[in-house]
Amino acid sequence: MNSRTESITLIGAGLVGPLLALGLVKRGFKAEIYERRPDMRRVRLSAGRSINLALSARGIHALTEAGLWSEMQKIVIPMKGRMMHSIASELTFQPYGKDESEVIHSISRAELNIALMNAAEAQGVSIAFQQRCMGMDFGTGRLQLRDEQTGDEKALESGVVIGCDGSASAIRGEMRKRNRFSLSQHQLDYGYKELTIPAGPGASHVLETNALHIWPRGNYMLIALPNVDGTCACMLFLPFQGPDSFAQLTTPSDVIEFFDAKFPDAAELMPELAENFFVNPTGSMVTIKCSPWHAEGRALLLGDAAHAIVPFFGQGINCGFEDCTCFLALLDRHGPDWGRVFAEFERARKVNTDAIADLAVENFVEMRDRVADPLFLFRKKVELALQERYPLLFVPKYAMVTFHRIPYATALQRGNVQDRILTELCDGIDRVEDLDWSKANRLIHGELTPLELAS
Ligand SMILES: Cc1cc2nc3c(=O)[nH]c(=O)nc-3n(C[C@H](O)[C@H](O)[C@H](O)COP(=O)(O)OP(=O)(O)OC[C@H]3O[C@@H](n4cnc5c(N)ncnc54)[C@H](O)[C@@H]3O)c2cc1C
Repeated sequence: MNSRTESITLIGAGLVGPLLALGLVKRGFKAEIYERRPDMRRVRLSAGRSINLALSARGIHALTEAGLWSEMQKIVIPMKGRMMHSIASELTFQPYGKDESEVIHSISRAELNIALMNAAEAQGVSIAFQQRCMGMDFGTGRLQLRDEQTGDEKALESGVVIGCDGSASAIRGEMRKRNRFSLSQHQLDYGYKELTIPAGPGASHVLETNALHIWPRGNYMLIALPNVDGTCACMLFLPFQGPDSFAQLTTPSDVIEFFDAKFPDAAELMPELAENFFVNPTGSMVTIKCSPWHAEGRALLLGDAAHAIVPFFGQGINCGFEDCTCFLALLDRHGPDWGRVFAEFERARKVNTDAIADLAVENFVEMRDRVADPLFLFRKKVELALQERYPLLFVPKYAMVTFHRIPYATALQRGNVQDRILTELCDGIDRVEDLDWSKANRLIHGELTPLELAS
């Protein structure tokens, strides 16, 4: 069957599933989603509830294509830069971009998920909750589903299945049983904990509103992102074991003493710190690379199911939404020739998703450690000066990834070249005025070609 009345089955109504389903119904397909959790619009879910995400150019582009971005303005807060909090509670602000047009947007993951599910359902997507995918036969297209309330299992015949079921994907688990499926999973030896800073009077923010707050402490860090209700969603990233680790924080007084010593200005703003800490689970983080992403022209992995990354570049969902942009463009080009669309999708995306996976790990060291280093801050200033003089040649790595839709692999490769150039230019100076511009000119023109920056 390849008519537009064909029904596509998606597994997972997280962030990517509903957005992709929306794109499919707009193209005349039927789309139904099976989701293992209860409907978060009716049942309060705890884990992941208070996580905020940073949306940037790639995510915004996909939401704009879906006609959803303008509606989302009321649930996002622009963040212009990083506000670093030292151990002595001093503040240093470092802008993300060259001017105020280059911002990232804080959004509650739960609010975004709800907005996407509402929009998908309004366009005719059906979402069945508490239906866990248990496996799939790629030969017949038969899916095995379990009702999480009753425990009943049922089989479902489906022509095409897209696994949007996140980093622990059941569809990927099924592909793993096949010959020549390669999988690498790297668990970070750090965990994260969701915490909250309550709103001030009149739902105001008690921290600067338009910034992503970071308490960088070398081997670990706390971050906080503003919410529209005046609260700030915080995440503590700590090693699981060793000194200054989750293993050391076993009682309420351990937690309070640790925060008072390491994050004193944040501790003052968290009256329910110890309660929050022990109610919320400690999350783990994983990088997953696998291949192939598709089987028998019947099943495809997309989003975190295909390429989970650690959260330190704020790109997980931006990358997943860019998957949707790429997949739908290929579907428009080739029509429902699924085997071809799936293969071309993986060919186009994998090199880029592997690159952002590596960039995300690299950025962890930058966020928790280097942002507090004067040499790093000086290099940032030099980067901005070079970008101002060579706007199409020298675009900082952070900007290539965050404010443009330059392929991630290109951003990684050019970023490495630029890092080398920066090291040469910053050697022996500590003022931008002392930059050797003739050397900069030679290095930049010699090693970099102009970028196409339209996004
Ligand atoms: C702490 C943290 C901070 C982050 N910060 C950012 C950020 O700032 N910016 C950013 O872009 N990204 C960020 N991310 C990453 C982002 O959350 C993920 O990339 C994104 O949620 C992936 O979307 P997805 O739809 O592929 O998977 P998910 O959102 O995980 O959705 C998968 C869905 O599938 C369902 N499911 C799973 N298994 C089954 C099954 N067997 N049957 C049926 N349903 C199933 C799940 O219940 C879930 O609803 C962060 C992640 C974490 C953990």
